[in-house]
Amino acid sequence: MPKEVILLKLGEVVLKGLNRRTFEDALLKSIRRRLRSAGDFAVNSLQSTVYVIPQNDDADMDLAEERCAKIFGAVSLVRAGSVEKDLDAICRRAAEYLRDELESAATFKVECKRSDKKFPYRSPEIAAQVGGYLLDRYPHLTVDVHAPDVTVWVEIREAQAFVHADAKPGAGGIPVGTGGRAAVLISGGLDSPVAAWMMAKRGVELTAIHFASPPYTSPQAHDKVVRLVRKVSEYAGRVKLITVELTHLQEEIRDRCREDLGTVILRRFMLRAAERIAREEDCAALITGESLGQVASQTLQALTCTDAAVEIPVFRPLIGADKVEIVELARKIDTYDISIEPYEDCCTIFTPKHPRTRPLLRFVEEAERAIDGEALLAEALGTVTTQWVQP
Ligand code: ATP
Ligand code: MG
Repeated sequence: MPKEVILLKLGEVVLKGLNRRTFEDALLKSIRRRLRSAGDFAVNSLQSTVYVIPQNDDADMDLAEERCAKIFGAVSLVRAGSVEKDLDAICRRAAEYLRDELESAATFKVECKRSDKKFPYRSPEIAAQVGGYLLDRYPHLTVDVHAPDVTVWVEIREAQAFVHADAKPGAGGIPVGTGGRAAVLISGGLDSPVAAWMMAKRGVELTAIHFASPPYTSPQAHDKVVRLVRKVSEYAGRVKLITVELTHLQEEIRDRCREDLGTVILRRFMLRAAERIAREEDCAALITGESLGQVASQTLQALTCTDAAVEIPVFRPLIGADKVEIVELARKIDTYDISIEPYEDCCTIFTPKHPRTRPLLRFVEEAERAIDGEALLAEALGTVTTQWVQP
């Protein structure tokens, strides 16, 4: 056993009854995949805990910890010092492994969990022994069982004992891959990467679809989208990014359709194109970053007109979120700084001066008849390019 391991606590995974095996396997699989470039690790689970065990000294534990914090399905994680199951050795290991924490604390307590019931000491005795030893070694400390600066955890497991400080929050959610596959419509904005992240958090595997309109939109705008998808992939695993050019369709809408309905019409065509790609890519739903009332195309009436263009379900995880809440999440998943870079999106070129906020479906359908939608869609789908985006 190496000196140090990472322990992850399973989250909702443990509630899944008979499906538990599937969820656990998906979790182990995502951890293994994400750790591949951080070194050689053994990853296995026992009693609601996943053990990440480096196989040699080359393994990068800092990187592994950072990666593990982005794995959906784990509620918490902590680095732990391992030690043989001998009480004196455990005392010494706790004092040494948690030296930094103990030196900078004023108060502490010891908690013990003993899953090996054959270990000759019981939890309170172990805690008392370790506590006494630490008080001798760090005379500046006092015990505070209610609100200690540091809690020293001692876990007595079957093969080994561990010492560690309090666990940090994990990414939560459920393992990616257990919730089917959906296609997220991703722009360069703030909302869609967050929406993608939220659905991945609920176990959904993602395919990303981006619409570009060169030369009105630039290669930099596309690169921005790639970087956003890469950030999301740190949580969601590798993502296929499909780019579709809508230039001609957009020009036709601009030139031939009622101006005040232009945005809604464009959005209907985006969903139609996305629906067809989703069917090809085995995606059961679409995901967008829309939030009720945020802009003219996101009123109840506008969203109703948009949805009427397709049969596939459209999920909008941010529908009830305020911008402030979305920004907070964007900062947390580190997409914010990329999203605010000022590149144009195909939705923001040719925008009508006075978009209708309460469009009526029959007028939208009528306005749409001014263009040859089917031919323009086919043309757009002929421009598809695909790339894999890895974390
Ligand atoms: P975002 O911040 O994600 O860009 P937004 O508030 O700017 O969203 P819109 O531009 O109206 O809103 O777009 C609404 C949703 O439509 C986006 O969240 C995204 O899911 C999708 N979308 C917008 N533009 C594109 C695009 N160029 N390619 C793919 N999907 C897009
Ligand atoms: Mg946008």
